Amino acid sequence: MLLSMDKIIQPAMNDQYGVPAPNIYNMETVAAVFEAAGELRSPLIIAVLERYDLEMLADIAKIYSGRFPQIPAALHLDHGNKYESIVRAIRTGFTSVMIDRSQCPFDENVRETKEIVKMAHAVGVSVEAELGHVGMGVSYQNDPSAAFTQTEDAVRFVQETGVDCLAIAIGTAHGRYAGTPQLDFPRLKEIRSRVSVPLVLHGGSSTGDDNLVKAIKLGITKLNVGTDLFTAGINAIKQYFEQEEFPVGSIAAQKNQLGYKQATMHYMTLLGSHDKF
Ligand SMILES: [Zn+2]
Repeated sequence: MLLSMDKIIQPAMNDQYGVPAPNIYNMETVAAVFEAAGELRSPLIIAVLERYDLEMLADIAKIYSGRFPQIPAALHLDHGNKYESIVRAIRTGFTSVMIDRSQCPFDENVRETKEIVKMAHAVGVSVEAELGHVGMGVSYQNDPSAAFTQTEDAVRFVQETGVDCLAIAIGTAHGRYAGTPQLDFPRLKEIRSRVSVPLVLHGGSSTGDDNLVKAIKLGITKLNVGTDLFTAGINAIKQYFEQEEFPVGSIAAQKNQLGYKQATMHYMTLLGSHDKF
């Protein structure tokens, strides 16, 4: 069943476990994450970037959520940038949207997030926003701490916008890292103690299992993960092509799906979202 994301992350925050939000981009990856969630009995947050065909992926997600009616799942627009994409996502059945104005000045971020919250909440769709800025792993060595989330700002931001959850910058980055990720755990702890809504960590891939377990323990509820899953899927295809004398496309697609599914299951187990229904 597709639910608004707050129905998934509020119980997770209360019971102190994390829920992964795998980035999906086609039918195989949607199938992979539903199968993973079904086997582990984990809630599911399906994250879709706005560059993809939102209408088609929403249709696919609805088909799979019909096949797995027992799974509490949210269909979430990841890093919504254009106002038009956010409206389109809501219209086509997304149950949650992210508005990312993390590179804008604070007041502009508040103003634009508030506008999206008003519209989305009117139709029961939850909203994520980002404060501080999570950059790219390739530029990680250029001091990521410059854009870390400030606690006082986070408190004000949540109060003024009414967002359902907040993505914070504490040292993770998107994609692969150049350098070793260093997370600012004291900052996380402080933000958690002052902010009422669930907290989101972007850039989960390659952050390291120990770091992630600690982040969940200290108050992260939703973890975005993409690169590690794409890599697992691609490696599974590569292995298949290397081993087979007469490779078959449909089997390669199945291998991709399986690699993706196993990596998703790893994160569900690591974050403790299994055995929840
Ligand atoms: Zn992200």
